[in-house]
Amino acid sequence: MKVIGVHLDRCTGCKTCELYCAVERGSNGKTLLKAAQETPLPQPRLRVEGNNEFTFPLQCRHCLQAPCLNACLNAALVRDPETNLVLVREERCIACWTCTLFCPFGVIFPWPERKFALKCDRCAFMENPVCLEVCPCQALELVELEDFEKIPGQRRAEVGKTLAGKKEKGLLLLDLGE
Ligand code: SF4
Ligand code: SF4
Repeated sequence: MKVIGVHLDRCTGCKTCELYCAVERGSNGKTLLKAAQETPLPQPRLRVEGNNEFTFPLQCRHCLQAPCLNACLNAALVRDPETNLVLVREERCIACWTCTLFCPFGVIFPWPERKFALKCDRCAFMENPVCLEVCPCQALELVELEDFEKIPGQRRAEVGKTLAGKKEKGLLLLDLGE
C-alpha cells in the first residue's frame, strides 16, 4: 500500500497543498476563483500544522490497525479491499463525529455544513494525490508502506522525540529525511 511521506526539511508551511486539496477535491468548480465563491466554502482533507520552527501537512496514515474503523457507529468508515486505504462512505456518515475522537492523529475533520466527516483518501482514483502535484517544494512523496518500515527505527524515534519535545506530543510523522 502506498502512503504519503513528508520531507519535513522541505515543507515551508505555504499551505498550497491545503488550498488545492480543497479546490480539487472539495469544490464543484475545480478552479480557485470558482471555489472561493461556493457556499459552503470547500474544505481540505489535510491540514498544515506547526509553528515558527517547523511545519508539516497532516493527513490520514491509513493505519494498518485503524481505530477509526471500529469507532464509527454507522459503518461509514471502511477499508477498501483493493487499495487497503481507509475511506469514508460519505452517504453513510451521520455526522456524529465519534471517529474524530478515536483517530490518534486528529486527521478526520468534521464538515458540519455538508454533514459528513472529511479525511484524506490519498486521491486513490487519480494518478497522483493533488497535494503531491502542487507542492512547490516537493515536500510530499508517495512511498510503499513496506519501504517506510525499512527506514531505521532509530531515525523514526529521533523524529518523534524531536517533535514531541517541541510541541506535538505523541505525534509520529512519516519523515523521509534527505
Ligand atoms: S505545499 Fe509543500 S511546502 Fe507548502 S505546506 Fe504543503 S507540503 Fe509544505
Ligand atoms: S483516520 Fe486516523 S485512525 Fe483512521 S486510518 Fe487515518 S490516521 Fe488512522
